[in-house]
This record gives sequence, C-alpha cells and structure tokens, in this order.
Amino acid sequence: MRKALPVVAALAVCALAAVPTQAATIATKGTGWKLTTQLGVTSLSPGRQYTITFATSTMKTRYTPYLTAAVSQARAAGLKLAIGGVEPVTPAKCGPVGHIQYTEIYRPLGRPGFSQGMPCPYPPKGVGTGGIVAIDSEYWDGTWPMPAYKLRNTLVHEPLHALGLDHPNLDLDKDGKAADHECVANPSGETPVMCSPHGGYRTGTAMGRLTGFDLDGLKALLANARAHGIK
Ligand SMILES: [Zn+2]
Repeated sequence: MRKALPVVAALAVCALAAVPTQAATIATKGTGWKLTTQLGVTSLSPGRQYTITFATSTMKTRYTPYLTAAVSQARAAGLKLAIGGVEPVTPAKCGPVGHIQYTEIYRPLGRPGFSQGMPCPYPPKGVGTGGIVAIDSEYWDGTWPMPAYKLRNTLVHEPLHALGLDHPNLDLDKDGKAADHECVANPSGETPVMCSPHGGYRTGTAMGRLTGFDLDGLKALLANARAHGIK
C-alpha cells in the first residue's frame, strides 16, 4: 500500500545525486522485513528524535490510541519515536526532519480502502527523515467497514512505510510472483505487519502490535546507521 505521490517523486529526481554509495555492511532485507531502498532509505539515526504528528487535533485524538503500543515497542527496540502534536500537513511535501505526518485523504491511492505511507525520498546518506501517512477517509465515514485487526494493523503499517520499511512479500510458492499475503509467518501463523496488503496479529490486544519481523526491520535500520558511524 505504498506508491510515490507524483509531486514527491518529482522532488526525488532532484535529490538523486545525493544518494550515497552503500557499503557492504548495509543489510537491506532479512526474514520478514525489507527496506525501502528504491526511495533511498537505508537507515534510521539512533540519536534522532522521530515524532508522529497530525494534521488536526481530531486526528491526533483518533489515531493516538491505535499507535501507542507499536510506538512503545519501537522505543524498546532503540528507536527514538514519540507521538507528538498537531501541525500543518501538505501531503505532497515533506515536513520537518524527523516528522511522520498523519493526515486523511479520500482514496489517496485512487483505490477504495487503500491508505498510503511513504518516507521522504532520498534523504542525505540514506538516513530516514520521516514521511507522510495518508489514511483513506473511507475508514471513518462508514463506507469501508473492515475487521478491527485489519484497521489496527493498517494504521501501524503505514507509518512503518514512512520510517523506511517496505513490503517483505516473497514468491514462497515459486509461481513467479510475490502475491498478496505471501509472506513468511511465525510459528503461530502471524505474518509481518508490513506484509502487503496487510498482516500482523489478528486477535485481542495483540492487534496493531509489531511482530518480531517488523521489529527486526527497525533494528536493521538503526544498525545500518551505526555501521556508517551515524549517531
Ligand atoms: Zn504497504
């Protein structure tokens, strides 16, 4: 559920020259996780504050309860991530460094029920600077009902895109394509939250929590920064 917004993609072209040559010490994918290398994000700075902000106070109130558990898990994994306040959000333009900006748009990808998350492309040295999350407004107007686990996992999936994680779908059945939901699973059957179009826990208080796969992806982003001496 991620595609580049046209205007942001145009910005990316201007920044292409800034893409660094990656050393061999960088890991860009592993079991159940994959980095957004196609947009030039290969790390997250362990010392940088990353903050989730919202376009309106109504959105802050609406989304904060869905994000709290995953944010705590990310912090425990070493990422300085916090839930912040309200600020103007222009979806086609990146916000302040470190901000993951939440807003709502009617069908941001042009497809019913699909939301969008993406990192600000081609940050200096590949170190993620945050990004944009555009949740499909249909989730809240009654026209796109879905089970709680799908909603909760989607609301966490999109900011992970903004932080630099991509879909880890694989061609596990060797039919020539990595299909929807075709992702590794843990012994209890859960796929990564980042599995496309959705994955993660499906029951109880586990819904909307990060799986070990997703946490490994965040840890890899931090480790890549450390490998390059980025604090
Ligand atoms: Zn996605």
